[in-house]
Amino acid sequence: MKRLIFKRFLLLLSLLSVILVAITYPMYLQYQQGVKDRILANEETSMVVASQIIQQEMYEQLHVLDLLKQSARVKDYVTDNTEAQRQQLALYFQQVSSAFHRFDQIRLLNNDGQELVRVDLKNGHGEIIPQDQLQNKSDRYYFTEAKDLASDEVFVSRLDLNIEHGEIELPHKPMLRFSVSVFDNQGKRAGVLVLNYLAKNMLGNFRKQMLKRANQQGMLLDGQGYWLSNHERSNEWGADLGKPDHTFANMYPEVWPTVANLDSGIIETKTGIFRFQTLQPFGFATNMPTHFMAEHDVVVTPQSVANTNWKLVIFVPYDFIQKRLFLYQTMGKWLLSLLVLFLVGAALLAAIVTTHRDARRREALRLNEVLHDLYDNAPCGYHSLDNQGRVTRINQTELDWLGYQREEVINQPFIHLLTPTSQAEFQAFFSSFTEGVSGDNLVLEMQRKDGSTFYISNSVTVLKDKQGHFAAARTSVFDISKRIELEQKLALLANRDELTGISNRRHFYERGELELKRAQRYQQPLAVLMLDADHFKAVNDNYGHDVGDLVLKSLANTLIYTLRETDVFGRIGGEEFAVVLTQTAQTVALEVAERLRHELEQIRVPVQASNQYASEQAKSESVGITVSIGLGMLDNSDQQLDDLLKKADLALYQAKAQGRNRVVQYQAM
Ligand code: GH3
Ligand code: MG
Ligand code: MG
Repeated sequence: MKRLIFKRFLLLLSLLSVILVAITYPMYLQYQQGVKDRILANEETSMVVASQIIQQEMYEQLHVLDLLKQSARVKDYVTDNTEAQRQQLALYFQQVSSAFHRFDQIRLLNNDGQELVRVDLKNGHGEIIPQDQLQNKSDRYYFTEAKDLASDEVFVSRLDLNIEHGEIELPHKPMLRFSVSVFDNQGKRAGVLVLNYLAKNMLGNFRKQMLKRANQQGMLLDGQGYWLSNHERSNEWGADLGKPDHTFANMYPEVWPTVANLDSGIIETKTGIFRFQTLQPFGFATNMPTHFMAEHDVVVTPQSVANTNWKLVIFVPYDFIQKRLFLYQTMGKWLLSLLVLFLVGAALLAAIVTTHRDARRREALRLNEVLHDLYDNAPCGYHSLDNQGRVTRINQTELDWLGYQREEVINQPFIHLLTPTSQAEFQAFFSSFTEGVSGDNLVLEMQRKDGSTFYISNSVTVLKDKQGHFAAARTSVFDISKRIELEQKLALLANRDELTGISNRRHFYERGELELKRAQRYQQPLAVLMLDADHFKAVNDNYGHDVGDLVLKSLANTLIYTLRETDVFGRIGGEEFAVVLTQTAQTVALEVAERLRHELEQIRVPVQASNQYASEQAKSESVGITVSIGLGMLDNSDQQLDDLLKKADLALYQAKAQGRNRVVQYQAM
């Protein structure tokens, strides 16, 4: 009898156990999957931020490269090839190098691969390499790959360690080379511009982002599976450091083929989960009208895309997932305890089930908090807009930039956070969002609560509802004020005369030509003055070149305070200046010229006693000058600014001939 009971009991027990397991096991698996999913969702934020850090950095370099290539300094030099222009260009490269701190070398090569201008970054400053040390680089890939490129194409090299004199430079210098063909003002091929970009900061920022991850492991691989970045630093740069078997493929042979061949995915192995993503460092969306890439038609060559076929891989070990599971035990223990609990009583089981549920809820809450924390404290701003353009979500980083509290921004139109100019641009963007077009790197200017402004770059993903209609725009935002500042500095450097700070010849022509076109279109009078200092050679000879320079500066200052803001003027030669007087008729123009002549006559520059060039008598003196001025008036025969300047120049010649220090107006023969 006892035996039977025991038999039945055993039978019953097994039966019940089977039923129990059948019910609870799938539940358990589902729960486990849920935890995994949440951990992976968490990782997505890291993936997005890391890939944006890299894209943003690459985007900036393309932009700088384009600005340099299109700059008048480069174009004018390759067109006219004068030594003075070469030196100007070297100075310009030097300023760029010192301002940006990220180009190991900036170089212009001619069509034969000979270096024409080269500036190296040494101790944080640009150093112009003397002409006798310039080399022929016709056999280097950064020249051969770029010398036949079309005007819109860019070559980008692999990312590798710099080699100096046949050896890897220490400390390691990860470097990318960007090169483009350069064309002269007639559109003729004139050489190659090469930037050696130092990737240290980009890799550093990438690593910093990876360190924020829970297990701090994240890697950047090149197309061959070598580590460009790894939490285990000794794994990096296998190809360059003569460790060809030091690859991801060797360490994870079962994972690598999938990572190499697919764009992105998730791979589960015995040890954990790999999440990988192919980075497209130059894969910016180009469909937005005001986008830089679209505006400038920049095409990264297929070879360059292959060179930068980088993979971002993160690894989540099972240990890590296990620790986050409610049941951190083996399945056997779990079944046994369930069995015991079943025998002990249903009440206790119910209690366990509710505990289980509570624990799950707590775990979910905790993971949510982590996610929130990542969202709020990401290095970039995030916001979402509804279909009316109102802010529905915004992270703490962006709020901090703006100086607003969350309540002040939520449900308010995003456009109110922009400057008036950017409001108009945003409106155009937003209507293309509503048509389902996403966009990258849209530049807008935001206004803080205190009224100050800053530039941002937006990457927008458009979300659609089930009917395919625009539902929301999710945007990540980078503060690019520093970049814009640098770009403005670049432009300013290119436009300014080094000595006097006023417009240089090229900038004067550019602005003068615009004024001429405007005057022609609206039939307004316009006058041009050509000024030349009288006997200026004598100033240099008697008082020294430095005093001559001071006189020229003071002359330029007089122009600044005598002329109107709407007038255009510049230094167009050594001691020659030109002025465009807008909306000015002949009699007024003559008055202005006479007043200028008079003001300039008043200039006095003290001759410093320490000046070694000055004679004893000259040291106690101050220097003054006079100028001769030629005036030309715009009439129907003038097509271009140059026609008008020629007339003023002829008049100037007459002023000199008639004894100097006077104003002469051009008279047709
Ligand atoms: P003129 O009245 O006929 O114009 O006589 P000038 O001596 O001014 O004429 P010229 O064109 O022969 O000489 C111009 C001088 O200006 C020669 C050059 O040394 C000087 N000069 C040109 N650029 C600079 C400069 O940047 N700094 C200084 N200090 N002198 C300059
Ligand atoms: Mg002169
Ligand atoms: Mg002169």
